Parts: sequence; structure tokens; C-alpha cells
Amino acid sequence: MTAKEPTTSLSSATDLAEYQQLLHKRLKTLTPIFAKAAIGDFSGQVPLPVEEDELSEFFVGVHFILEAIREKVAELEESLTELHAANNIIANEKARVQAILDGIGEGIVTVDETWRVNYANEPAIILLGEQARILGQDAAQILRLEDSKGNYVPESKHPVLKAIGTRRRIIYNMAKGMPLFLRQGDERRRVALTITPIVQGPKTAGAAIVLRDITEESNIDWAKSEIISIASHQLRTPLTAIKWYMAALLREDDLTPAQTKKYMQRVNDANQHMIDLVDALLNVSRIDLGTLTLQPQALDLRSVLADVLKELSVEIATRKLTVNVSSNSQMLPVFIDANSAHIILQNLVSNAVKYSSPGGQIDILLQQQNQNAFVTVKDQGCGIPADQQRKIFTKLFRATNAPRVATDGSGLGLYVTKAFVERAGGKIWFESVENKGSSFYVIIPSKTA
Ligand code: ADP
Repeated sequence: MTAKEPTTSLSSATDLAEYQQLLHKRLKTLTPIFAKAAIGDFSGQVPLPVEEDELSEFFVGVHFILEAIREKVAELEESLTELHAANNIIANEKARVQAILDGIGEGIVTVDETWRVNYANEPAIILLGEQARILGQDAAQILRLEDSKGNYVPESKHPVLKAIGTRRRIIYNMAKGMPLFLRQGDERRRVALTITPIVQGPKTAGAAIVLRDITEESNIDWAKSEIISIASHQLRTPLTAIKWYMAALLREDDLTPAQTKKYMQRVNDANQHMIDLVDALLNVSRIDLGTLTLQPQALDLRSVLADVLKELSVEIATRKLTVNVSSNSQMLPVFIDANSAHIILQNLVSNAVKYSSPGGQIDILLQQQNQNAFVTVKDQGCGIPADQQRKIFTKLFRATNAPRVATDGSGLGLYVTKAFVERAGGKIWFESVENKGSSFYVIIPSKTA
């Protein structure tokens, strides 16, 4: 029913029965309007009386109430649409900020004034572990920092507390503050921290912590300074020798040709030692700084060994060593970088030569074992004292009996050898008895494809 439809005025009733009937009929016109309104639909139009009677005021009232409700509903709907749009903007903005915070790579944690964590982004969770996801926890528990010695930084000295207490930004990084670490299972990661107190007028509302994993940076930095220190220490000896013999050659006018030759030989040896050292150092730096570029290819280890033996032939002959080589005729090529293969065999065979007594014997075996080349270099030299054997592949390590037999070692050869063997997917190990000899074993996977 619409407002335009005529309604019968009550005043047209001639008796009470008809009045009641008309009244009932008139009021009934409101039933569907109220029924709709009851379920939130206020669109019903009240049929307004054509002529004025007792119900006119009531109907007009209901009409205006519904009109007012419709207006309010329209207003509310408009506000709701605006609210939805605002909510959408907020949700988009939140997602954008979250993506930025998760994508910046730095961990961000915020804490309130009582040190409770109230936010942690994804990179922070990766660094601090899943427990950082649970908000409301104590920052000192989540950020359990260790010093270089592995001791926990106590709460009283915790940088977050310090920043909140002093209301000043606190920074720990490669250049500033003591090194700080976070434990991740068996591993320790070095972290850089910037803690900025959130200052609101006279009170500190908490702190924002920016965390960064600087383990790689710090390892590289350490490796660089170690390489510089090795280079300066190790090069000193041959440089001093060259200086000493050159000075003698220049100073002494009455040297015999044999003496001159001997001094020249020493200069030459020291120079060769320096070249070997620089090569070894370059390899150490490539391994430690992760800049080693290898080009694996199919290689016949027998020809690599032949080259190495040729290079060492003068030394082998001078020391009157017997070198027996036996190799399996069915050797498959190995898949390895040519320079690495050369360095591996050169270090193992030159050590066997270096640490053998004059007149000793060296046995070299090249065998095919399933899908691997198996190399054995066995000598009868000074051997390695049992209590020092576990350190033999460590950078710069020389056994106590080594300098007596060979003065010019650097302790870098086996470190480089092991790294190269492992990069080729192989393994290296040894057996040794002091004063009896050593056997070094290497396995390198054969080329399969
Ligand atoms: P170095 O330049 O001192 O030979 P390496 O890294 O090649 O350095 O070897 C490390 C140490 O291992 C040596 O100093 C020596 O003590 C021991 N070593 C290596 N090979 C042998 C060997 N065949 N016999 C006895 N000792 C060896």
C-alpha cells in the first residue's frame, strides 16, 4: 500500500460497528509496514488519510517517525560505507607497513616501559626464534645476549634496560660497543643492535630495537685481519733471509764463486718460499672470504700426479727418495677444478717429500673405488705426534716435530687441501705414527655424467 491510496475516513462511519470495522481496517494497513520495520526494513509508506479524523495524527506521526528512521538509516549506511572505506585504507596501510617491516631485512622489536615485547617483525622472529612471536614477554628473556666468551649479559647490564633507563639511543655494531651474540641452538650469531627509547614528554613509553645479523660481516672482517697478520708474520722470515744474503753478497768482496753461488741459492730459495706463501695465502683468503671460484671438469688424476712429480723431481733426487707410483688402469676421470686437483696432490706429495728422512720411500696409490678416486700418499718420515693429530687441518698449525725436519713450512697447506677436497665433494683423512711415517688418504668423486 502506498500513501497515495485513498483511505476511508472514520467520520464516514454511521454506527459503532461500522466505526470499529473501519478502525480495524485502517489500523490493519499498518501491519505489513510494522512487520517490515521489525526486520529492519523501514521502506513501508504509511497511507495518510485523505480527510482528517481521529487517526490522522497517529498516522502522520508514524509516517514522520518512519521517514526520520529512513533518513537516519541512510545516514548510518553512508557512515558505514565511509567506515568500510577507511577500514580498507587502514588494512591496506597496515599490510603495506607490515610488508615493509618484514622486508627490510632488519629485525624490529618494540617493548613497552615495563620491557614487555609488544611487536616483533618476521626478521626479528628468525633471529630470536619463534618465542618472539608471543607478545607480552620480557625483552631480556627474548633478547638473551651473550658476550664473546659466551656469558649471558645480565639484566642489570642489558642494553634495552640501559636505553630505557638513560633515555638515550644505544648502538652496538662492528665499530661500536662490545661484540654481542644471540644463541641459535649450537650456533652463535653476532648481532648489531640499535635501541632507541620511545620518549613521550617526561616519560619513557618503551623502546624500539633494530637488530641485524652481522655474523658474516664479522667473520669476513676477522678473516681479513687474520690474513694480513699471517702475511706479515710469515713473509718476514724469507724477506729477512733475502736481505741478509743480499747484504752479505754486496758487502763481502772476497767471496769464492762457491760461496756466491750458495748465497744466491739461499736468496732463490727464500724467494721461492715467498712465492709459495703468497699462493697459499691467496687460496686461504679465497676460502675464508668465500670468493673461491672453481671450474670443475673431468680430469685424469694420473696426469696431474705426473706433473706434480716432475715439479718435485729435483727435491726428490736431492733427498735421494724413492717414489713408487701405482695406479689402477681403470681409473675414471674425477670431476674437479684443475688448479684444486694440482694443489691437493702437490701439498700431499711435497709434505711426504719434506717430512721424509733422506733416502726414504714414498708410495703413491691411485685406485678406483666404486664411484670415487681413492688416493693414498704414504711416507716413512717423521710422522705426527698423536696428541697433535686432531689439529693438523687447522690453519697455521705445525706439529712440534715439523720445524726440525722442514724449517720453511707455513701450516697452510693442509688447511687449503682439505677445503679444496671438500669443495670437490670429497674427503681427506690420515694415519700417522711419530717417527714411523704418515699415510694421507683422499677420496674424490668420479665424473658420473
Ligand atoms: P706445512 O707448510 O707446515 O707443511 P701443512 O699444512 O702442509 O703445512 O701441514 C701442517 C702440519 O702437518 C705440518 O707442519 C706437519 O707438522 C704436519 N704434516 C703434514 N704432512 C705431514 C707428513 N707427511 N709427515 C709428517 N708431518 C706432516
